[in-house]
Amino acid sequence: MAVRWLEDIRSGDLDAVGGKAASLGELTGAGLPVPPGFVVTADTYRSFIQEAGIDDELFAAMDIDPEDSGALAEAQRRAEELITGTEFPDDVRAEILDAYESLGDGEEFVAVRSSATAEDLPDASFAGQQETFLNITEDDLLDRVRDCWASLFSQRAIYYRTRQGFPHDQVDIAVVVQQMVDADQSGVMFTSHPSTGEPRVIIEAAWGLGEAVVSGAVSPDNYVVSREHRTVDEVTVADKKLMHVKDPETGATSEVPVPEDRREKRVLSDEDLRRLVDLGERVEEHYGTPQDVEWAMVDDEILMLQSRPITTISESNPAGKAEDSSAFANGGVDVSGENGESTANADTTAGENGDASASADADSGDTLLKGLGASPGIVSGPVRIVEKLDQLDKVEEGDIIVTEMTMPDMVPAMKRAVGIVTDEGGMTSHAAIVSRELGVPAVVGTGSATRQLRDGQRITMDGDKGTIRAGEVTEPEVEHDPVEEVRPQSPVKPMTATEVKVNVSIPEAAERAAATGADGVGLLRIEHMVLSLGQTPDRYVAEHGEKAFVDEIVRGVRAVADEFYPRPVRVRTLDAPTDEFRQLEGGDDEPHEHNPMLGYRGIRRSLDQPETFAYELQAFRRLYDMGYDNVEIMFPLVNDAEDVHRAVQLLREQGIDPDRRTWGVMVETPASALGIESLAEAGIDFASFGTNDLTQYTLAVDRNNEHVADRFDELHPAVLELIGSTIETCRELGVDTSICGQAGSKPEMVRFLVEQGVSSISANIDAVRDVQHEVKRVEQKLLLDSVR
Ligand code: PEP
Ligand code: MG
Repeated sequence: MAVRWLEDIRSGDLDAVGGKAASLGELTGAGLPVPPGFVVTADTYRSFIQEAGIDDELFAAMDIDPEDSGALAEAQRRAEELITGTEFPDDVRAEILDAYESLGDGEEFVAVRSSATAEDLPDASFAGQQETFLNITEDDLLDRVRDCWASLFSQRAIYYRTRQGFPHDQVDIAVVVQQMVDADQSGVMFTSHPSTGEPRVIIEAAWGLGEAVVSGAVSPDNYVVSREHRTVDEVTVADKKLMHVKDPETGATSEVPVPEDRREKRVLSDEDLRRLVDLGERVEEHYGTPQDVEWAMVDDEILMLQSRPITTISESNPAGKAEDSSAFANGGVDVSGENGESTANADTTAGENGDASASADADSGDTLLKGLGASPGIVSGPVRIVEKLDQLDKVEEGDIIVTEMTMPDMVPAMKRAVGIVTDEGGMTSHAAIVSRELGVPAVVGTGSATRQLRDGQRITMDGDKGTIRAGEVTEPEVEHDPVEEVRPQSPVKPMTATEVKVNVSIPEAAERAAATGADGVGLLRIEHMVLSLGQTPDRYVAEHGEKAFVDEIVRGVRAVADEFYPRPVRVRTLDAPTDEFRQLEGGDDEPHEHNPMLGYRGIRRSLDQPETFAYELQAFRRLYDMGYDNVEIMFPLVNDAEDVHRAVQLLREQGIDPDRRTWGVMVETPASALGIESLAEAGIDFASFGTNDLTQYTLAVDRNNEHVADRFDELHPAVLELIGSTIETCRELGVDTSICGQAGSKPEMVRFLVEQGVSSISANIDAVRDVQHEVKRVEQKLLLDSVR
């Protein structure tokens, strides 16, 4: 038997038909209204590959390095070729087509959905990876079944199984063929409150087919109904701009505007709601646990499309975990939902939309995940999971990017996003730095967002508290306008003796940075300019020529130097660790390092590769020739005077006169802090504390490792001691001091530095104003103290 009818299937048939089909069968068997359909069983797939003799070759093709995107693409291509290039045995073909014929009038549109059987795999990394095809007719049915099978070997599925050590030959796939529902209305229903478990049914509804709701393309209406009293307690009618409908000619689903008169109209009447709640209650009673149900209405008839247990209701959500007001200070990299699946079903929990318990208050108890609040702001939107191997094109305006870690080539997509969430990284990671500059709220270091959240799921993230919650914030509405936020409201900025500058990492942020009224740029990182070329410097030069590379640096630096002229812009030479270079074309030649943070980076690499370093210096030379005398040069990760002498020698070789230009070093290692006197003698004009690195090297805490984030303390007495003594020595020797690490944005650090007599402080764009005020306050206090 190649196929089985839904009414003959029960949840115990999971191995034969996969999770999706087992659940549909169970609902059908319970007498609930489910569109009719049948399942091409997992055994059918298995015999197909075995009898055709393609199984060994198929699984052998999966034996690849999952980090090699070329190999991944090739594995997928090979699987597709093997599966879709193999004919169905005649009996299987006949059986599937017969079943189709008996579904309706023989011209029925059907949905063809994958239903994979590997129950042991963590749900979130597996579900939804296989294909679904809608509006299929007899002509394409067999091809689409094979396409579903082949989708078991999509790049993403191969990647996950390989990474998790799950054998490719132990996953099977069944395919559900089910009558299409040409829905007038559709949506989802939680049969109990998804986070508290109260007997309150939450229903979301939109016009047309359900994909629009599930994928997050529209904001649906939201209704809350008390099960006890059958009263409709809350109604939130959304402005529904779009709907998905079936094209009557082609059967294809298309997105069309909702007719004007229905946009703001209620999708469900009180009577519809009561009927839905009756059905919801039956489903919950049948399963014995609260359910997350997908439903549709056709000609007033309600159909159940899918039902899954709600797993967000659990004790694993102790309110206390959401209470830390500063995740960073508390090192709170927590994952509230310990259960790997706890959020997998929460994809449309915009359910809390009109619910009084879901305000902007992050303590409302429905926190899905916690990380470090890395860039401030509260925003809601649909999740867009971005894997390294994915196209970034799928990120649309208004999405929240969820990714392991951001990379420079993601920046265009980061600009489109309203928020960024990462699994990895700390407050000084790429994601944190770039998000702040873009003014996009970010939560980093959640540990598992890419596994716990799902594409299309609507979430609200709080970039201050570091929380991710299900659903949308309705009150208060958060409008994010970063430029307005950072622009000083009063035209008179606080006058301070200590200069307050700003850090810039992406040239596009120059205008916003300048709008803060900062006294200059204390750190312009050029890593982003270089890494976003997509190729290592050597590869880029080999392919495009030396001039093109120099041009790129000139272009990026100039954008910032122009914006600030004549205020100084401190440009740092390249300091990208090898693991970041490795991501680029040409990166295969990068050395494999045990710990790239302690490795081949900063000035040590530049001195070791003087030919490559020369391109950067040529860019400085060009800028000076163009008249940008506000550009200063800063060398990163310097340890001693020897480093300085060698770097200065290379400046001279490129025709830059160190005596005419302002240049200096970052103090990022204890060695440089302890040896500051000899650095001063080597001629530096300034020393700038890179507290991100200084802290990690003083405390032996990897700054990007979320597991030790609570140990990353820039205010640790040992770090302060190094900073304090360096400032003291520099003051004696007439060398300017500054800070350009993340800690320069912290009030405690600002107080300490001003009291010690630092010359300038460089802060993040969003912190400049607060720092200006803090500096002024401390300076006034010092003055007062001195005259009292
Ligand atoms: C630092 O180390 O504090 C610093 C500003 O440099 P980066 O974060 O680029 O290493
Ligand atoms: Mg550094």
